[in-house]
Amino acid sequence: MNFLAAAGVRRLCAMRAVLPCLWRGKYFSSGNEPAENNTVTPMLRHLMYKIKSTGPITVAEYMKEVLTNPAKGYYMNRDMLGEEGDFITSPEISQMFGELLGIWFISEWIAAGKNAAFQLVELGPGKGTLLGDILRVFSQLGSLLKNCDISLHLVEVSQKLSEIQALTLTEEKVPLERNAESPVYMKGVTKSGIPVSWYRDLQDVPKEYSFYLAHEFFDVLPVHKFQKTPHGWREVLVDIDPQVSDKLRFVLAPCATPAEAFIQNDETRDHVEVCPEAGVVIQELSQRISLTGGAALIADYGHDGTKTDTFRGFCGHRLHDVLTAPGTADLTADVDFSYLRRMSQGKVASLGPIEQQTFLRNMGIDVRLKILLDKTDDPSLRQQLLQGYNMLMNPMKMGERFNFLALVPHQRLHGRNHQTNARQSKPSPSPVAGFGELAWQ
Ligand code: SAH
Repeated sequence: MNFLAAAGVRRLCAMRAVLPCLWRGKYFSSGNEPAENNTVTPMLRHLMYKIKSTGPITVAEYMKEVLTNPAKGYYMNRDMLGEEGDFITSPEISQMFGELLGIWFISEWIAAGKNAAFQLVELGPGKGTLLGDILRVFSQLGSLLKNCDISLHLVEVSQKLSEIQALTLTEEKVPLERNAESPVYMKGVTKSGIPVSWYRDLQDVPKEYSFYLAHEFFDVLPVHKFQKTPHGWREVLVDIDPQVSDKLRFVLAPCATPAEAFIQNDETRDHVEVCPEAGVVIQELSQRISLTGGAALIADYGHDGTKTDTFRGFCGHRLHDVLTAPGTADLTADVDFSYLRRMSQGKVASLGPIEQQTFLRNMGIDVRLKILLDKTDDPSLRQQLLQGYNMLMNPMKMGERFNFLALVPHQRLHGRNHQTNARQSKPSPSPVAGFGELAWQ
């Protein structure tokens, strides 16, 4: 069976974003761009009160408050994705991205022995576009999955985005169940009849056999920043600028701070960003996968423990000074994949990180593009497909900056049968798709 052909040939999706829009992985910088918006936002007022009463705050605390403060956080009450928003992500650029990820999950489900049920868990699902594309592939390959009991679990802190996800994914005629007090704050049924639940925290998702997905999720988790000084590492803090009213500035902590414990002893860089929250999430994922099986696919822009100052802001598809008009712009930092791998060690095997262009090529994006192009004569759809492909794959665009990392149980890579002796031939496990070429058995 040619899965790339079967995966939604009947459905060529409507136009996505008109390019070019800005994707977040493009630049590194922090706080040096010209301030474009000096308004005193409610978030700035809140932070100034906080700093006046308890002193300068860490960059991690600043990031957490600005992005996910329940009342005023950037992510909580707006739709920032797409042309009208502040930045664009791969699923919003091309349907091919989600389709190939859908095939990845099915491929792993088959390779791991076609479990009778699985949960698909997404961390930070944005508008739900990626899941929508994945579910379309699941429907198209329904004959394979027909006896599998699938459920969806969305980990999302944003009320506004959870409403948009529900609109994208669920059947209007089946009313959503809501309970703001419960760890499962919303429940519904997708258009293809799959139960879907929303949580604020991964810890609350049932610990069952699951496939996990995190696309552009880790980059919004709060980072601590450290500068090497003659006196040792000193944490970068956010303080009120005494020279200019209603303005924040970076300062160095006068002495050592607790998050220094996250810096490696043999660190050679003179500026580092560490993200303890990412470590907590990876440890939780690793523990779950080692206990129940399944896999995690993590895709983000990042580096392998080599970059220094990557903290930056985005507003209206432009770079934005991270300390200006907080709450009106996205804040992000490149993901340190070497740290994620370290945090998974011992519990699961990790593959990657590999560049997006390699992963998508291994998954068959070229074949998929050809199939979709052959299906339409509409010049604007054809142009959109080609532009989308270029944006995802071009090394100067998203092809090199974005990386894929997978976490799988150890036995997935070393075969399932531990009792085989020298005379029995051990079934060799199929390679993990994307990290090698997609091979269907
Ligand atoms: N994965 C989507 C959206 C990326 S934007 C895409 O690729 O298009 C980041 C997403 O993570 C948003 O949905 C945001 O609301 C969510 N988010 C941010 N911080 C979070 C946190 N601490 N816990 C859960 N979700 C979070």
